[in-house]
Amino acid sequence: MTTFSRRRVLEIGAGTSLFALLAACSSDEQVSEGAQATADSDAAATTSEAAEASWERINLGFVSAYLLVRGGEATLLDTGNQGDEGDIEAMLTSAGLGWGGLSTVILTHSHGDHVGSAAAIAQAAPEAAFYAGKPDLAAIDIGREVIGVDDQQKVANLTIIATPGHTPGHIAALDTERSVLLAGDALISDDGALALPNPDFTPDYDEALKSVEAMAQLTFASAYVGHGDPVLTGADAQVRGLANS
Ligand SMILES: [Zn+2]
Repeated sequence: MTTFSRRRVLEIGAGTSLFALLAACSSDEQVSEGAQATADSDAAATTSEAAEASWERINLGFVSAYLLVRGGEATLLDTGNQGDEGDIEAMLTSAGLGWGGLSTVILTHSHGDHVGSAAAIAQAAPEAAFYAGKPDLAAIDIGREVIGVDDQQKVANLTIIATPGHTPGHIAALDTERSVLLAGDALISDDGALALPNPDFTPDYDEALKSVEAMAQLTFASAYVGHGDPVLTGADAQVRGLANS
């Protein structure tokens, strides 16, 4: 849990309360003021821990997967390359869960750097349900059923957004509760800014641009992509800029 909390503090820029806490702990002369700050920080930490589950990036080097833990259950978006299941298990463990706590796996598309560890995870987590866009199902073999999903369908309280182009069945997932778009490879990020997908890896670029326009209709603060760093604020405005470019 320590890794989780620290990472979240860094990612959402809520370092202020941490520094207040550290300052309070380091000064004996401000006992009453410091004690109050400590109590406030503890209360804030406890409240956010309970109420605000957040997406965690599992940085697998070339590609990222993302994990959300709510109410003792985990949702995983993408599975990295073959052999990445150990890193994903480590993130589950740091959230206080094991494979048994993984209830949902969403595969954004059929490429090997996104479904690579899905078969191993399907074995390790027999209770988990796997989902992917219907047109990609034929290209995904994980040794058991993958449930096909359509645009606007809800999966684990996330809204599936059909975003074809990179593959015919590519999907993104919108988390309205956390104001996060998980875009898979329908967008990339470069140097802290969202960018259009690379034409070299996008067989149907016209479709991919239409998908960017579809994402530009949505409201979200953050965008998490398969390749590149998450963009944490103002991401929807960036997508609207790309759609108009
Ligand atoms: Zn891909």
